[in-house]
Amino acid sequence: MHTLEIMDLTVTVEGKTILSNFSLTINSGEIHAIMGPNGTGKSTLTKVIMGDDSYVIENGKILYDKKDITKLPVDERAHLGIFLGMQSPIAIEGVTNADFLRTIVSSKEKTKFKLFPFIKELEGTIEKLGMEQEMINRGVNQGFSGGERKKNEILQMYLLKPSMVLLDEIDSGLDVDSLKIVGENVTEYQKNSNCGVLLITHYRRLLEYIKPEYVHIMMNGRIVKSGDFSLVDYIEKNGYEKIEKKKIELGTCAVRELTKNE
Ligand code: ADP
Ligand code: MG
Repeated sequence: MHTLEIMDLTVTVEGKTILSNFSLTINSGEIHAIMGPNGTGKSTLTKVIMGDDSYVIENGKILYDKKDITKLPVDERAHLGIFLGMQSPIAIEGVTNADFLRTIVSSKEKTKFKLFPFIKELEGTIEKLGMEQEMINRGVNQGFSGGERKKNEILQMYLLKPSMVLLDEIDSGLDVDSLKIVGENVTEYQKNSNCGVLLITHYRRLLEYIKPEYVHIMMNGRIVKSGDFSLVDYIEKNGYEKIEKKKIELGTCAVRELTKNE
């Protein structure tokens, strides 16, 4: 059983507040989705959980299994089992995908790492994800399409076997067939590993493959409304404007309580 606790997190970048008193707890086996308008701090949240030090934590903390990880470097968080599938994965020139994957997996597994089982698993997972085998010999994400980069993130997830999976717009850039493959594979991994999942998405379609029990609406750096899957339909029908309007009328604190009774 693992628990990720984000407590009262306030984060700035270049003096601008991006997250403000943000709190959320995710346990093993739970799937949470965050939806929210562009520029509201969703990607920032995932990067701060992962340990990106370009953001300044002004207040609050992040705990993993009750251990304070707020100041831990990225690799140590990854070794604890936290994984981030990024919204815009970067290309790394001169390092093959195979070498990169072997490095991150062996650094996590340390003495348990065995090359032959690793290669077998790598090849099997590539096939499962409908990727081309030659992609392992190209530079990391070098010349990969948007969708191929997203699948490459899921490949990393499978090999690293995380206990807490953060996926930032993993559906963007995927065609309908790839979306199905990615959605079904994440669900399969989640069921088998019982990991916790945080999904960030704009679209209902992904959430039909990876069904969240908890849906949160994030605006201006904090959660303004939480609910179940029906909140996805509410947003599809009403957009974010109605929530925003209420927030202005009532003040942020009152929104959660009031909208609960709608
Ligand atoms: P979302 O993922 O919800 O669309 P982001 O977390 O990417 O939003 O960004 C939230 C806000 O923070 C945006 O206004 C963005 O321009 C700003 N921001 C994020 N990262 C940086 C950065 N490294 N430098 C300056 N501004 C940033
Ligand atoms: Mg984003």
